Amino acid sequence: LPEYAFIGRSNVGKSSLINMLTNRKSLAKTSGRPGKTQLINHFLINNNWHLVDLPGYGYARVSKSSKKTFQKFITQYFSKRLQLVCAFVLVDIRHTPQTIDLEFMQWLGENGIPFCIIFTKADKLKPMAIERHVEDYKNIMLETWEEMPEYFITSSSKSIGKDNLLNYIDYLNNNLAK
Ligand code: GDP
Repeated sequence: LPEYAFIGRSNVGKSSLINMLTNRKSLAKTSGRPGKTQLINHFLINNNWHLVDLPGYGYARVSKSSKKTFQKFITQYFSKRLQLVCAFVLVDIRHTPQTIDLEFMQWLGENGIPFCIIFTKADKLKPMAIERHVEDYKNIMLETWEEMPEYFITSSSKSIGKDNLLNYIDYLNNNLAK
């Protein structure tokens, strides 16, 4: 089955987003405490694709060695995943573009792994500010890539962006089937 990976800095709202997408309140555990997601979890959605929950990255203080471990882990995951269709990189809409996220996207791009951006916690900003922050991202992405990747604006607490995201995944799945 096709796989879609969800990844982002710890506390970005990944567990909440996965709960929203899977209609469950407590499949993926949420907590205000960073680093709760330790292992890779798979969720079967609609009986036709797998959502892959990858561990959070970018703790406030990471040693060089744990950075290396992370890189090795991620590299291993992505190098083995033949079914992976797209990686969804989550970023908190409130933050200006962060080096760690940009470097990670750069790495995905260089390794030929298609990715999309999911902006989380949209309920925390006014529409104008959301637009501005997305624009900041676009400008930075366009310095490196020819286009801004597909992106989604979500809020798990206000249930925003769910249908867009699921429809997009369905669309990719349908294209695979052709
Ligand atoms: P994870 O570490 O990336 O899995 O993040 P969690 O899903 O555990 O969320 C981290 C914190 O952000 C928790 O306190 C959540 O309640 C909060 N949070 C997650 N998503 C949203 C959202 O869409 N809106 C708001 N306001 N808070 C959120």
